[in-house]
Amino acid sequence: MYEEAIGHEDVAESDLVTRRGTFRAVAFRADGHEHMALVYGKTRMRENVLIRVHSECMTGDIFGAMRCECGEQLDAALNRIVAEGSGILIYLRGHEGRGIGLVEKVRTHVLQDEQGLDTLDSATSLGLPVDVRDYGPAVRILKHLRVNSVRLMSNNPDKIEALESNGITVAARVPLLVQPNDHNIGYLTAKRDRLGHDLPQVDVFATDLPRAVDR
Ligand SMILES: [Zn+2]
Repeated sequence: MYEEAIGHEDVAESDLVTRRGTFRAVAFRADGHEHMALVYGKTRMRENVLIRVHSECMTGDIFGAMRCECGEQLDAALNRIVAEGSGILIYLRGHEGRGIGLVEKVRTHVLQDEQGLDTLDSATSLGLPVDVRDYGPAVRILKHLRVNSVRLMSNNPDKIEALESNGITVAARVPLLVQPNDHNIGYLTAKRDRLGHDLPQVDVFATDLPRAVDR
């Protein structure tokens, strides 16, 4: 697929001092959304750059919701990048609820809470797709940042495929495993069993914590 370069009129960057340290914050307009790459250390023209391609999740990322693991993955990815001394976190907008949007995502929460549907069935029962996230902007951002080979922090094989089919070499996948809790175990189990995510910690939770079964 041909990826159009992002023009300078759609990019702006500055330093961003955070609690974790100083990043280069690179903001992009692409495909109708505004995205951000947080760049730490030297990554330009480097090989096997540690990256996270993070789908926005307002409830998890900002408000610390426990029904998904997004916020904890975001924290863990940034911590790991800083610990390693370099890397990039790409924060992709337009990815709420795997692309269905915030209002529809909250509608799926109602079905999950009231009818016990999982994260997939609650979407399809509303006539919505299970996953319509577009990773094209992430590819264009990586190319803009002159990064062609990465180590991807993800448990989702679809993300590897999305990057590799667009010319980004994924040299390794780095697991990003969050400790399950009573509120997200159903969500994590559905992601493992029905979306093919590699989540070995789900088994440990099921066997270690029988109280989760008693309730
Ligand atoms: Zn989330």
